[in-house]
Amino acid sequence: MTSSALKSALRTASTIRPVKLATGGTAGELQNLRQTDTGETSVSSLADAFSRAIAHHTSLPQNERIANSKMAAQKVGQHAGFYTNKGVPTNKPFSLLGKNQKLTKTEEGYEGGKPVTLPNGQPIAAAGVSLSPAQQFGKFNTCPNSAICKDDCLGKTAGGNFLYGGAHDLTAMKGPRLVGYNKTKALVHEPEAFATRLYDEIEARKRLAAKEGKHLGVRLNVVSDLHPRITQAVIKAHPDVTFYDYTKLNADPVAPNHHLTYSSTGVTQYKGENGLEHDVMNPHSNWRSMRKRLDTGSNVAMAFTHGAHLPEVVHDKETGKTYQVVNGDTHDFRPLDKQEPGKPGVVIGLKNKNMMTKSAAAHGTAAKNSNGFFVHYDPQLKVLAKGQKAVPTNKSVTIATQPGRSVTRGDEMMGHNGGPLLGKE
Ligand code: SF4
Repeated sequence: MTSSALKSALRTASTIRPVKLATGGTAGELQNLRQTDTGETSVSSLADAFSRAIAHHTSLPQNERIANSKMAAQKVGQHAGFYTNKGVPTNKPFSLLGKNQKLTKTEEGYEGGKPVTLPNGQPIAAAGVSLSPAQQFGKFNTCPNSAICKDDCLGKTAGGNFLYGGAHDLTAMKGPRLVGYNKTKALVHEPEAFATRLYDEIEARKRLAAKEGKHLGVRLNVVSDLHPRITQAVIKAHPDVTFYDYTKLNADPVAPNHHLTYSSTGVTQYKGENGLEHDVMNPHSNWRSMRKRLDTGSNVAMAFTHGAHLPEVVHDKETGKTYQVVNGDTHDFRPLDKQEPGKPGVVIGLKNKNMMTKSAAAHGTAAKNSNGFFVHYDPQLKVLAKGQKAVPTNKSVTIATQPGRSVTRGDEMMGHNGGPLLGKE
């Protein structure tokens, strides 16, 4: 998709026929987009703002919808920034939707492989919103359940931060971190404008994808964990787009076109287990919730310490059960993951991409340095035949019996933020 094609699609995105939504909205009149006090931002306030904005926008006749789109674009741009032309700012705000390496893998294929397709052979066009991970605004946090992962989050530690600014200083708002932070400011300061702009950008990308014979897949939380109740109005307004995310919240999908993969907050790991040389206590482990989801047929995601290899199975010491691990790094379009009826789910394995702990030298301490977020996996690489590459000779990881009750704070945090308790286990 070329940028000029995308710009042209965005210009026409607001001219589509209005769709009818269940929620209110005043047809035929421009809504004064309200500014939200960041101190009062909550899941409920954002969800309400999104619902209001989408109901209103999609109810407008064409000319008024164009005006509404322009107004939303300006309000979003005041926080997210505007594109420049020869150094001079234009009136085009930075796109909320973009791509990262993983989204690109979905479109173009992994390591020379084929692009990811739907079962009917249709290729995927992928896009996502990269906000600021674990960002606090008053009582609201973009990742409510991030006590264990906020310092290892790819939003702070992945290669892009080293290529384009930020690097080792995780507090530095530079490069991709600054871009994400500015978009997050737009979300909390101008949630209705943000929702309207997001709706328009998805519409534009959907049209282009259709022209290219592709199906659009959108990750609204590339490096954030907004409760899906916030964005459900946008998700429901685009039933022909597939929305998907990883989440550490005990949330369930909000629509048939929405897919969630529950993600690990890591585990407590003991010396001697999996070849680890020290105990790693993780009071935030959600392993019991993970296991419950696996046993009821859902796939879950887990990050391992090694930067190049994944185990083939995870063995649960407490129950004696074993779960298959599949490579979650070839692409991120998780809705395609197989979940065979009546069978346990599989672990979507993710390799360590933290630039500070993924090296071979740092591997032995990655579990400790992440407080147990990364699960230690030693592939015990050996060269089995002269002249050949070393291969893993250990293919399993054992999850120790976890102490106490596992902590799954997603629902509590939703209540704290004033939102409903969705998907409670
Ligand atoms: S919840 Fe996900 S996006 Fe948020 S800080 Fe943790 S790893 Fe990053």
